[in-house]
Parts: sequence; C-alpha cells; structure tokens
Amino acid sequence: MTRTKTTTTTNAVPEPATQAEISVYQQLRHHLAVLKLHAAAEALPGMLERAQGEGWSMTSTLEQLLAVEVEENQARRLAGRLRFASLPTPATLDGFDYDAAPGVDRQLIAELGTCGYLESATNVLLMGPPGTGKTHLAVGLARAAVHAGYRTYVTTAADLAARCHKAAIEGRWATCMRFYAGPTLLVIDELGYLPLPAEAASALFQVVAQRYLKTSIVITTNRSVSEWGEVLGDTTVAAAMLDRLLHRSVVLKLDGDSYRLRDHHARSENHRTAAGTIRRPLQ
Ligand code: ADP
Ligand code: MG
Repeated sequence: MTRTKTTTTTNAVPEPATQAEISVYQQLRHHLAVLKLHAAAEALPGMLERAQGEGWSMTSTLEQLLAVEVEENQARRLAGRLRFASLPTPATLDGFDYDAAPGVDRQLIAELGTCGYLESATNVLLMGPPGTGKTHLAVGLARAAVHAGYRTYVTTAADLAARCHKAAIEGRWATCMRFYAGPTLLVIDELGYLPLPAEAASALFQVVAQRYLKTSIVITTNRSVSEWGEVLGDTTVAAAMLDRLLHRSVVLKLDGDSYRLRDHHARSENHRTAAGTIRRPLQ
C-alpha cells in the first residue's frame, strides 16, 4: 500500500453518504481540528476515498491517516531542531574526505556519527592547525545529532563569551547559563583563535562545569592543551576546565596541510599548467 499525501481540502464525505454519515464525518474533522492534527485532517477526504475504493480495513485506514500526521510532525520537529542548531556551514560527516586527512580515524568518526557518545555525556575535542577540518567535523557531528533527534546548538567561543557578557550586563546571567545547559550537544568552535578576557574564560568554565557528566560538548581548538592557560588567561581556570572536559572524552588530533590552502595550491597548480599549455606553442 503506497502512502500518498493528498492536497484535497474539501469537506466532502465520500459519496454516497447518509445524513448520519455526514454528521459523523464532520464530528471526526472537528476532533482532528481540536487535537490540531492538521495534516491528518487535510488528508482525510482523499484517504477515506481510497480506503473505500481499495477496500482497506479500518485498522489500515487509521494507520495510514495517523502516519501522515506522524510524518508531518517529525519533519516539523527536525526543521525546528535544525533551525535552533544554527549550523554555520552545510558540512556533513559523509562529505569529509579522509584521503585529505590521513591522521583521522575513519572508524572513530563513523562511530561518533551514530551519536552513542551523547548517551554517556562524552565530550569530543578536535585539535589541530587552521584548515584541517575541525569545524567541518564539528558541524558534521552536530548535524548527525540533530537528525538523530538530539537538541543541538553550535556556537563559537567568541560568540558564547559575547552573549554571556551581554547577559551579565543586562541581569540575565542565570537565563543565559540555562540556555547553554539546555542542548544535549553543545558545539563550541574556535577556542583559541581570539584571546578571551578573564570574564569570558570564567563564563566558558561555568558552561563546561554545569554540563559536566550530564551533556556533551564538542570543542574545536587550534591550540594544544598546554596552551589553554594562555588562551584563557588563567592557568587554574584552564586546568579546572580541562579536567572536566577531558574526564570523559574523545580527543581527535587533526594534522597536515590546510584543506583551504590545498585547494588554493591545486588551483595555482592548475593555473600554472594551463599557462604552460598556452605558452608551449609559442616556444
Ligand atoms: P578548521 O576548522 O580546522 O580551520 P574547516 O573545517 O573550516 O577547518 O575546513 C576548511 C574548509 O575545508 C571547509 O570548507 C571544509 O569543509 C573543508 N575541509 C577541510 N578538511 C576537509 C576534508 N578532510 N574533507 C572535506 N572538506 C574538508
Ligand atoms: Mg574552524
């Protein structure tokens, strides 16, 4: 039995119908409206017609009708989670080129892609120089989490710091902290790119501390763990934060050439070759 979505919007009950049948049908539409099952309400006339025409059982008809609503509901929730997640790029785990990242454990990424780590509130640290795919993998993990049904939010260390700073000024500190405690997965991108003021380091520490052993953080950084004291401007805060982040964690070190520059080098190479081909006949 194929599931087709009807766009019929008439209130007509399939013919022939007695007055009593029409009344029951209208009552049914009313129930669907009260329960806000709008997709099912919209599909109802077409579905009843097909059920009658093809002789579906009552169970089958009900299942088909509610399936329309469930599909709609799931699509709406996924769209909501995607909107909330604020994924900054279209990157996916499937789109990651492992040949370009020799040090990266494909098996481990595939495993992380199944989101099991979220159930044990395990953190993921992606470390490496610029352009090695840290943000790509972090966004890919976030996208996988969204699709698996987890509430996810992606931010940068600088944005998180700025938001906390603003909240502190406006007397909304507790609300801000609750916001960062909420998502099952919080991605904090680009720790270490910009020096953080002491106040930002303490906000970051609080976010990490309140999520500790409860919910996961994926964090990307271009700085080694030994440099975090410098990044956060305070070795004690850095040590306390690392303690919590690393206690239950997967650390992925990305190395090698920048993917961005690799592209750039390849383009330059192409240009050189192209120029060479043009020049050759002149020689
Ligand atoms: P980083 O966050 O480490 O500075 P990015 O993840 O932003 O690097 O990568 C820079 C660009 O190169 C992005 O467009 C990203 O999608 C792409 N990229 C990096 N590494 C890979 C890879 N191994 N496979 C596919 N694309 C990659
Ligand atoms: Mg990045």
